[in-house]
Amino acid sequence: MSITQNLTNIKSQLPEGVTLVAVSKTKPISDLMEAYNAGQRIFGENYVQELVDKHEQMPKDIEWHFIGHLQSRKAKLIAPFVSLIHGVDSLKLLEEINKQAQKNNRIVDCLLQVHIAEEESKFGLNEQELDEILKQVQNDNENFKNIRIVGLMGMATFTDNLNQIEKEFKQLKTIFDKYKQIDTMNIKLQSLSMGMSGDYQLAISCGSTMVRIGSSIFGNRSPLTPKGGN
Ligand SMILES: *Cc1c(COP(=O)(O)O)cnc(C)c1O
Repeated sequence: MSITQNLTNIKSQLPEGVTLVAVSKTKPISDLMEAYNAGQRIFGENYVQELVDKHEQMPKDIEWHFIGHLQSRKAKLIAPFVSLIHGVDSLKLLEEINKQAQKNNRIVDCLLQVHIAEEESKFGLNEQELDEILKQVQNDNENFKNIRIVGLMGMATFTDNLNQIEKEFKQLKTIFDKYKQIDTMNIKLQSLSMGMSGDYQLAISCGSTMVRIGSSIFGNRSPLTPKGGN
């Protein structure tokens, strides 16, 4: 199946209101251009330098999402153009994104990453940390004028156990619903980014509004390529 066929096939399964982020990490420009020519305009990348390079080389009407783990010192490289940063998981990073967005005279949309998987991982906030960040940004909104928190993002445990994955997605949806009523200058949770190639249908049935799909569109990546990255 071609990239175009894969895209058509996936898009036909997405209900209205669910956004498709085509995850193109490690894939060559020619693959991205095939998706672009098939109408795809939202691309997700995990590595800062790769994102910067692809942004330079590709058409300017693309919305670029950063979906990896962002190191604070690299925020300045993507602040001039990034549309959405999915994996924000500290106040320090949020402050840095705000600072860099301000320098570029932009407002950068962010999702806060919540840790829902069973696996130990450095990334993602627990519910209490999430609560604290949301309160901090509400109380101190003068200092966060150049970011907007527009939703949450999460990754389920890497397992074949669909019950486990479903439980984690539902948990994130519950957290999302709990904070959905906040409506301030720079916090309004509208997007719930969950679901990848292996579990996006399940994620949608649990309330996802944004799926991040890579290998089902572009084919498998080299097994040597790290999963996370920056
Ligand atoms: C690589 C990646 C994806 C896409 O994974 P696939 O299984 O290839 O669809 C989605 N989200 C994040 C955060 C990723 O790193």
